[in-house]
Formats: sequence, C-alpha cells, structure tokens
Amino acid sequence: MILLFLGSPGVGKGTYAQVLTEVLEIPHISTGDLLREEAKRDTPLGREINEIMMKGELVPDHVMLKLIEERITHDDCKNGFILDGFPRNLVQANHLQNLVDITHVLNFKADDEVIIQRLSGRITCKKCNMIYNKVGKKPEIEGVCDKCGGELFQREDDKPESVKKRLDVYREKTQPLIDHYTNKGLLVEVVINKHIIEIKERLISQIKAYLEGKINKIEEIK
Ligand code: AMP
Repeated sequence: MILLFLGSPGVGKGTYAQVLTEVLEIPHISTGDLLREEAKRDTPLGREINEIMMKGELVPDHVMLKLIEERITHDDCKNGFILDGFPRNLVQANHLQNLVDITHVLNFKADDEVIIQRLSGRITCKKCNMIYNKVGKKPEIEGVCDKCGGELFQREDDKPESVKKRLDVYREKTQPLIDHYTNKGLLVEVVINKHIIEIKERLISQIKAYLEGKINKIEEIK
C-alpha cells in the first residue's frame, strides 16, 4: 500500500500520518522531517535547505528526488509507506510515478481559519517529530513530548512571516496535484474542520475502511 497525503501546511495530515503509520504498520515518510534533519547538519546543503525552508519556499526538485529515491529503498518500505509532503509539484509527481505504483491519495482539507489556527498553535518534538497543539492536543507536561520526553518547540516556519508564503506556494504549486490525482481515479477527500482530537478515532476507522475497500468515500465528521 503506497499512500500519498496531500493538503495544505497545517491541515492535520502529519498528525493523521503519525497515527496511521502505527495502524497500518508501514513507515511514515515526511519530507519536511527529512529536510529538517538535513538542515540541522552544518553542511553547505544543510544551510541551503534551512534558508529555503525559513523562507517558506520549495527545496529544489533534484534535491528532493534524490532524498526520496534513497529513502524508499530502505528495508522498512517493502510493504509500502505513507508519503507526507511529497510530491509538492507536478515534476515530483511525474518522477514518483516512474518509481512506484501509488495505491491511494488522501487529500486533507480544512477551512482557511482552521488551518491558520492549527499552524499558529502547533508545537513539535525536537527529537521524534511528534506533533502537538497548544489549543488541541496538548502534551501532558508543558513543553515535553509524551512519547520520548524530547523538548517541544514552535517551528521557525510556523511563524506568521513564513506561513503566508507557504500557503501561497501550496496554492500555486501543490494544489494542481489534486486534479492530477483525481483524473487518475486515486484521490479521496478527508475533511477535518472539527478539533482533531475529538474526531480522530472515528476518522481513522473511516480511513481504514476506505483503504480496505469497504466504503468508497470518507464522510466529514461534524
Ligand atoms: P512540511 O513539514 O511538509 O510543512 O515542509 C516544510 C518545508 O520543507 C516546506 O515549506 C518546504 O520548504 C520543504 N519541503 C518539504 N517537502 C518538500 C517537497 N516535496 N519539495 C520541496 N520542498 C519541500
């Protein structure tokens, strides 16, 4: 099973990917997380990536393609994987198509105000990348990851200066992928306007039923 998660920054797809990776027992590959790891290294490539990410722009395709090609050859990907944050444009989508057979594309959607609120409240673990939210899913101890005890921080690119640019880039470069995958008959919508924490269980069981072919659409939970 090879799943692609599409959707604007802050929509909640990373949170759902972190749950589904356990439910489906396939790895969650977040290109944002891979890039943040690379950016921590004090190398010319790391510094270049960091600069691009802080501006909210896309890292060049040749860097991304190399990164993805390498990651999906790891042993843990042999039964499939979840790609979160890749592809981000048509060049990446066309390249991916030559590498693997995508089975499902989940397009996560929420209203703009919900997205802005999620982005401004998001806090992430420095160590294991677990996602929390200051208003939604709070950690048990403030500033500390429930899962690994790592320190929680607000991503630099979740600050308002970068957020606007990231949303613009999403609309211009990534949104066209919705038509691309709809035309291929691979896309299903997942609407999450309600508080993630309140609907997570019900939505996960719907997604699971969809992936097992038991239902053919995922209803919004209101
Ligand atoms: P994310 O964690 O998915 O929101 O990604 C954070 C940042 O990493 C983005 O704003 C981009 O700068 C970069 N990035 C992540 N995935 C990609 C990709 N597939 N192509 C280009 N840049 C990416």
